[in-house]
Amino acid sequence: MPEASLGTSVSADQAEQQRRGLMLVLSSPSGAGKSTIARMLLQNESNLALSISVTTRERRSSEVDGVDYHFVDSDRFAHMRDNGQLLEWAEVHGNYYATPRGPVENAIESGRDILFDIDIQGTFQLYEKMRSDVVSVFILPPSIAEMKARLKGRAEDDDAVIAKRMKTAVGEMRHWSEYDYVVVNDDLQRAYDNVRAILKAERLKQFRSPKIGPLIQGMVNDLESEISA
Ligand code: 5GP
Repeated sequence: MPEASLGTSVSADQAEQQRRGLMLVLSSPSGAGKSTIARMLLQNESNLALSISVTTRERRSSEVDGVDYHFVDSDRFAHMRDNGQLLEWAEVHGNYYATPRGPVENAIESGRDILFDIDIQGTFQLYEKMRSDVVSVFILPPSIAEMKARLKGRAEDDDAVIAKRMKTAVGEMRHWSEYDYVVVNDDLQRAYDNVRAILKAERLKQFRSPKIGPLIQGMVNDLESEISA
């Protein structure tokens, strides 16, 4: 058998390292557990980083500039928007929020995945610009009663804030079918495992690894010469 002609090989590392990064968008109404799942993912997935948004909202005392958000004034925000530095932007509850373009583009071109905590307006803008790079997951609370109980349990929000969040939630939940995946969070560990499985499978989609195409073709050629020998 002509072993010498069967020279093409490909490793799982090559396939993973040479791929394009993906953009994982987690969305959910407040109180559905999105932040907890996001935190668990960031702790356990070494090739996943959070996209740090810019916002004109006031910094909360628990937040750190450059870690939770880049806090900017309206002039700076308008400058970034008008100079094409924002991948998407939206007004949420009277403040502006946006995703800076540069870090996201650099990351996905070098095979690193990015996690987004953005609202539905932002998600749809990413769909328009980079649909095949976006993997969107809608996290659903098991019931509205449960969601309300979780919001009330946080104690940090008063009734007016909770009412506002419930109203925003209606707007978001109406669009559940426009997400790639829906994960019900009635059990945190199970919901987290499901999101992780989605991430793992999406990383293996063949179109994210265009550079291994020629290697696979080389193996097809090897196989063809083997069977015709
Ligand atoms: P918060 O002010 O509570 O941190 O966020 C309010 C809302 O703004 C949340 O729904 C959050 O997902 C959304 N948000 C945060 N950053 C961005 C962003 O860069 N773009 C968009 N479109 N929404 C964002």
